[in-house]
Amino acid sequence: MTVYAAPLDDIEFALRIVGLDEVAKIPGFEHADWDTVKDLMGEYGRFVADRLAPLNRIGDEVGSYLDPSVGHVVTPEGWKEAWRDYVEAGWTTVSVPAKDGGGGFPGLVGAALAEMLISSNFAFAMCPGLTRSAAATLAQWASDDLRAKYLPKLVPGTWTGTMDLTEADAGSDLAQVRTMAVPDGDGTWKVTGNKIFISWGNHDMSENTVHLVLARTPDAPAGTRGISLFAVPDRLVGANGEAGEPNGVVCVSTEHKLGIKGSPTCVLSYENSRGELVGELHRGLKAMFTMMNESRIGVGLQGLGLSERAYQKAKEYAGERKQGRLPGDDPSKTVLIGHHPDVRRMLTTMKAEVEAMRLLLFYTARVCDMAADLPDGPDKEAASRMEAFLTPIAKAWPTDTANEVASLGIQVHGGMGFIEETGAAQFYRDARILPIYEGTNGIQALDLVFRKLRMDESEPMLQVVAGMKEVAGRLESAGHQAEAKVLTEAAEVWTSSARWLVERFMSQTLDVMAGATPFIAMSGLAVTGWLMGKQLLASDAAGGDKAAAARVVTASFFLTQVLPRIGGYVGAVSAGIDNLLTPEVLGVES
Ligand SMILES: Cc1cc2nc3c(=O)[nH]c(=O)nc-3n(C[C@H](O)[C@H](O)[C@H](O)COP(=O)(O)OP(=O)(O)OC[C@H]3O[C@@H](n4cnc5c(N)ncnc54)[C@H](O)[C@@H]3O)c2cc1C
Repeated sequence: MTVYAAPLDDIEFALRIVGLDEVAKIPGFEHADWDTVKDLMGEYGRFVADRLAPLNRIGDEVGSYLDPSVGHVVTPEGWKEAWRDYVEAGWTTVSVPAKDGGGGFPGLVGAALAEMLISSNFAFAMCPGLTRSAAATLAQWASDDLRAKYLPKLVPGTWTGTMDLTEADAGSDLAQVRTMAVPDGDGTWKVTGNKIFISWGNHDMSENTVHLVLARTPDAPAGTRGISLFAVPDRLVGANGEAGEPNGVVCVSTEHKLGIKGSPTCVLSYENSRGELVGELHRGLKAMFTMMNESRIGVGLQGLGLSERAYQKAKEYAGERKQGRLPGDDPSKTVLIGHHPDVRRMLTTMKAEVEAMRLLLFYTARVCDMAADLPDGPDKEAASRMEAFLTPIAKAWPTDTANEVASLGIQVHGGMGFIEETGAAQFYRDARILPIYEGTNGIQALDLVFRKLRMDESEPMLQVVAGMKEVAGRLESAGHQAEAKVLTEAAEVWTSSARWLVERFMSQTLDVMAGATPFIAMSGLAVTGWLMGKQLLASDAAGGDKAAAARVVTASFFLTQVLPRIGGYVGAVSAGIDNLLTPEVLGVES
């Protein structure tokens, strides 16, 4: 049984569609040529498949938990050694900018590697993901001293990082953060309070953890404007730069969860823990947005990685299990279930959606590279606007869709999918966190509608709409009339729904809020429809090889059978607040 095989051809194809060639032309990324990138991906794919994928099950079955007898979180057997090997191989550094001590590969290449890492072992992958984001936040916002103190440890993975936002009364609403930081007279701060749900908040895989903590300072203004960001190490850093005495950061407990059980979700208490200010006082949320935006795209990548693994599992089962016959078959024989049209439909849906997610996330990663690394000028500014527009979509659509894909994965297995031993159920349980953390998908939808959609007179959205129409025209010329028609209609309904929202933004705010989630679902379909149109054209051009032929089928399937769902959201976007149960009926008046 294959546990996981990195889909290197599919990933390379997606990198070509979104334009790795263009990214490699950005000064500083010249070394990201195809030969180097393919070698890198091949080696990485082998490593994660051999070393991390086999440890995914034990992560689910045993999990990471606080062991009071040892006073810290114990990770599943084999994970510590796997982390050591991962770090020693230098994999944590690949797409970290060279100026911060990394390999200097574009984020687009990093996204390709992240997909494989997550597919191999989602819960494990969260640790390097958070560490990378913490390092990026410090690199952008921290003082030279702090950067010199933490980056040489975080970038190679000697120490790991966390993001500490959530408190019992401060989840989606970070204005309620109560953790306090008071000046200690020597330029540092004493941090006191409690955070909940902190992923990888405590563990035995590295010798120190750097917590990036949102806290309020004395006399700070109320609301989010009064929040600052602090680096709070688990163990104080000695004069020699190494981890020393404990810093009063206590893991009180770990949560019992539906999924991602290998990733410890910690309740942390800070007891006069020494913290150092990151960025400006009272501007902590701005700094934390670096981490949150990176992590939002990272969570979208989790949806992709998990879906690819669920697809591989289901496809394998469809090639093992025999049931029933097809019309005209010998009645004494049974066929592999992968022959049944309905099972083929499920597997085609899964694969088409995986490909669509990959294109969306890689395209977003390409845009992020351009926004960060192009020389100053209009192209860089346009990329920044597109990054802002795509970020909530790249978080929400793949994570909602991953739940559909993981559910189909179980369905392909029939009753055995519901039984834990096949492993399909783990993907389904693991997928459920994706639309919740890093800002629920409901919050992403509000961000899209109230901030990103109207920004710069909707220029990024209009650019995607123009792309959809251009691709539809080329599909029409190439003989794909049905696909061209759906894509053209999708562009029209998406545009008219956006207009409906923008026109009522001030006058019917509650109606607009009520339509935000259906609108972000439309947006995910529209952007992926555009990109899957490109896939269809490129696969046509690639000629008759088997993989190209399969991509023609999945792209055509996506355009004609998945994209039309966009029309189903039109009514929901504009149905308004009166179409929903009232707080009175729901009994939530006070
Ligand atoms: C396994 C796991 C790991 C996590 N890891 C981390 C971590 O590492 N660091 C960290 O800081 N946090 C972490 N979290 C916390 C996570 O980010 C929050 O759970 C999430 O942001 C939602 O907050 P909440 O749970 O308080 O839900 P609530 O904010 O109470 O939301 C409940 C519901 O109300 C909706 N809602 C709330 N406010 C609004 C609004 N204004 N408009 C519309 N709808 C609204 C939400 O969309 C949701 O459907 C983790 C959580 C889990 C479960």
